[in-house]
Amino acid sequence: MKKSRRRPEAERGGVRRERPTSRIRGAIRRGGLTKHHAAATGRSQQGFRSQALRIALASALLLVAARAETLVGPECAVFFAPDAKPKAERVVATFGTRRDHAARWLGLAPSGRAEVHLVPDLAAMRVLAPGAPSWSVAVTSGDRMVFRLDLVDHGAANSLDLVLKHECVHFALNRTRARLPRWFEEGLAAHHAGLPYLEPDTTVERAASAGRLPRLAEADRLFDGGERDAALGYKLGQRAAGVFVRRFGDAAIARLVQASAEGAAFPDAFASAAGESLDDFERGLFEEVTPPLPFWLFVVVENLELSLLTLAALLAAAGYLRWRLRRERAMSALGRGDEPPA
Ligand SMILES: [Zn+2]
Repeated sequence: MKKSRRRPEAERGGVRRERPTSRIRGAIRRGGLTKHHAAATGRSQQGFRSQALRIALASALLLVAARAETLVGPECAVFFAPDAKPKAERVVATFGTRRDHAARWLGLAPSGRAEVHLVPDLAAMRVLAPGAPSWSVAVTSGDRMVFRLDLVDHGAANSLDLVLKHECVHFALNRTRARLPRWFEEGLAAHHAGLPYLEPDTTVERAASAGRLPRLAEADRLFDGGERDAALGYKLGQRAAGVFVRRFGDAAIARLVQASAEGAAFPDAFASAAGESLDDFERGLFEEVTPPLPFWLFVVVENLELSLLTLAALLAAAGYLRWRLRRERAMSALGRGDEPPA
């Protein structure tokens, strides 16, 4: 069930591919998310945007006209570059199960076909999902999912399976009238996808300890900032969703989604689903994530190995200086013919 539209003459050779003005500076892993630093060059944001748009359009045309293939499954159609065929096959094989799990967890009836695009980079993503942030691994808008091949499967936290699970939560919610704050929706998606290997993560504790944790009512602005703020937004949302599920159970999520879909404002939907006000929940959550240590001590404990090594190095240096001092004193005492110090 596959149709291929390939025009090999347009591939690589004849087409000069420009680099966007934003340079990807390599992957870092922080807080369980693999992210990329994008550094804009000296141009204005506006100039950057219009050039990015032109490049994006060109890349997308190249992709769609010359390189895209399609795999059609019962629950989704996947558009992909030929070298991404194994990933496209994985999506076709697993999407239905992922979609159904996510929908049922949210108390919804599984439904809907997805249009999935596996695109090579940010420029191609922005043609299909304008305004996608530079650090987005995947974006789901309506029934359309766009995955970036240059980020997916780079690091355990960005495995295709995990990202697909995450996006399926957005997919299911997009099919309802529910309007959740972004921190909570991303939190649900991240919680549903799960952390790989139960990786310990202290992003939220570190921010709480440094007094950088925003109130939940203002947490959505984290997603409008840079990559670092967004990472905190995801982690805070994930912790909140985790605490919510632990305290009130999966059924409360279904009640919350239902109430929101029926038009209730989020704080009201929250209170009716959880039996506790959002303010009280926030107080408990912040108490839980704030370490009982001053920030400097928290950093020392968080980096215990490095702290111990630094301490050992300082002690060794101090010991050496003390030895030098004693030796010099002894030498000068000898020169004066005094008794050397004991
Ligand atoms: Zn998301």
